[in-house]
Amino acid sequence: MAIETKYDVIVAGGGHAGCEAASASARLGCGTLLITQDKARLAEMSCNPAIGGLAKGHLVKEIDALGGIMGIVTDRSVIQSRMLNLSKGPAVWSPRAQCDRRRYTEIMCDVIGNTDGLDLLEDEVIDLILLEGKAAGVKTRSGGEVYGKKVILCGGTFWNGIIYIGDWSKEAGRINEKPAVGLSDKLEALGLRRLRFKTGTPSRLDGKSIDFNVMERQDGDEEPVWFSSNPPSERLPQVPCYLTYSNPRTHDILRSGLDRSPLFQGRIKGTGPRYCPSIEDKIVRFSDRDRHQLFLEPEGLDTDEYYINGFSSSLPEEIQYAALKTVPGLEEVKMNRPGYAVEYDVFPADQLSLSLECRMIDNLYLAGQINGTSGYEEAAAQGLMAGINAARSLHGKEPIILGRDQAYSGVLIDDLVNKVPEEPYRMFTSRAEFRLLLRQDNARQRLLKVSREIGLQCDTYHNSIAASIAKKRDILKMLRGTTVRLNGKTANAANLLKRPEYDLKILTQQFAIPAELKEIIQKNKESAFHAELEIKYEGYLSRQEAQVEAFRKMEKYSITPGFDYLGVKAFSNEARRSLDKVRPQTLGQASRLPGVRASDVSVLMVHLKRRKIP
Ligand SMILES: Cc1cc2nc3c(=O)[nH]c(=O)nc-3n(C[C@H](O)[C@H](O)[C@H](O)COP(=O)(O)OP(=O)(O)OC[C@H]3O[C@@H](n4cnc5c(N)ncnc54)[C@H](O)[C@@H]3O)c2cc1C
Repeated sequence: MAIETKYDVIVAGGGHAGCEAASASARLGCGTLLITQDKARLAEMSCNPAIGGLAKGHLVKEIDALGGIMGIVTDRSVIQSRMLNLSKGPAVWSPRAQCDRRRYTEIMCDVIGNTDGLDLLEDEVIDLILLEGKAAGVKTRSGGEVYGKKVILCGGTFWNGIIYIGDWSKEAGRINEKPAVGLSDKLEALGLRRLRFKTGTPSRLDGKSIDFNVMERQDGDEEPVWFSSNPPSERLPQVPCYLTYSNPRTHDILRSGLDRSPLFQGRIKGTGPRYCPSIEDKIVRFSDRDRHQLFLEPEGLDTDEYYINGFSSSLPEEIQYAALKTVPGLEEVKMNRPGYAVEYDVFPADQLSLSLECRMIDNLYLAGQINGTSGYEEAAAQGLMAGINAARSLHGKEPIILGRDQAYSGVLIDDLVNKVPEEPYRMFTSRAEFRLLLRQDNARQRLLKVSREIGLQCDTYHNSIAASIAKKRDILKMLRGTTVRLNGKTANAANLLKRPEYDLKILTQQFAIPAELKEIIQKNKESAFHAELEIKYEGYLSRQEAQVEAFRKMEKYSITPGFDYLGVKAFSNEARRSLDKVRPQTLGQASRLPGVRASDVSVLMVHLKRRKIP
């Protein structure tokens, strides 16, 4: 393939963020080049081979609704799917897919390779080309210079990456993969602020050496749980996961290795995720616990390898091995590869605008782990938005900024830009204040308008979602207008559904309801489900909608560019600094900045109102 030297968009890094970014910009009509260190490892899953899960599943549903590719690739490589949290309210139900690691990457390579207008180059980006202070291309390790109107950087854990196992360490982006060196230093030299984060992964085990009989078997759901609107007609064979536990002996052995732990001996300087601690971290922080859950997760259909979730470690290899052998079912285990930690550079995203464009360098976008997040889904959501916004900018359109009231992806980017994460940022349902409205099941419906605006999904898709919304309204209307007999009295069908002991299934099976209503419910399961939720949670939903209304007012209250924050004496010192540094676009954004209190927001509002009076 002859590589042209001039592109609309250049994406550096073919991980989860880079693949979404490149795919989106190419499909939006921009000639795109994806440069990555190893083109056979696109969207490689560095850690466990699973997509989705709590809150992350919401992100994937949204990525799919907006026209991204993660959901499509997941559905084609899933070997165990489950809807998590079904015992709780629908706001926190979350789809999770255990994937075949090899297939996932192969399918992603196939999807990217078959995208029109998207070229792939195996190389490493080591520098930016700037023209008049704006990004205009990249320089590569092999000596190439490629020009592009927009540059999107998605370096993952590779920028100045160092991996650690006990006393041993090596410069690497992932085990057996080179780090990306040079680019990050150049960005810092250009004035961008850099931090150091770390994350870790557990060992990989040979399934042939594991006694699964003594473990608790966990199967997936019978009914497939799909992420994409266009899933394959058949699932791959589904396989179980297994649950076992560590014990005091395991912990004693792990403790004996702490004096050689790069984490506890201070050799790793980067900040790790508190919510996802290594096993050595767990036994120190939760020293009163005598066991921890360990999940054995298959890596694929054509391999015996297992991932041991919950046993992330950077202790010396022999300590990891000895500790594993104390776990029920792992007495004879063979360890294919030890766990390790990786430390890498990140550029806090308060240096970006909400479109993910760098505020200091025009035409430069940053997405994924380098913005301080952790996780495939968080990376993919950012990559998608960076790709969309780079393309829109080239087309002279306003960026798409998803609100906190619209999408988890909006919450993610808003949090990243407005608050500097002190540790790798992971999405949780608790981060979304309007989570009853931002459910995974309604991602397509709530993002329909914005998806039309973006244009990555086709008309047929949009029309089918619009039809599902119309059907939901019909069902709601019919339920509200239907009377049924209960204990000799009449009752309204919608009111009946509000009671916890009744649901649509009972209503259609045990009550005499009009044939037309029965048919529409049976033929439109998703719309009927949405109608049922709206009835059941009516009170909560309307309260949340009122909160959204108040929130939107603040979001619409725009702040005059160039507003002189330093000149307003009534702000607290902390707020003044924060406001002047970030220069928020709206009152809503200002209210979420660190150090900005309710009193500062009132002061700002007074000043803004004063300026509006001629
Ligand atoms: C050891 C380890 C453990 C992890 N553990 C967890 C975990 O427990 N939970 C969790 O949620 N997440 C974990 N992660 C993080 C998860 O892998 C990332 O969040 C996710 O992969 C980030 O996606 P990304 O697209 O930003 O970057 P990556 O997936 O890291 O992809 C970056 C890609 O860009 C390429 N690249 C980088 N720089 C350049 C350059 N200059 N030029 C060309 N190509 C370049 C790389 O080769 C790579 O292909 C872990 C990662 C690692 C490495």
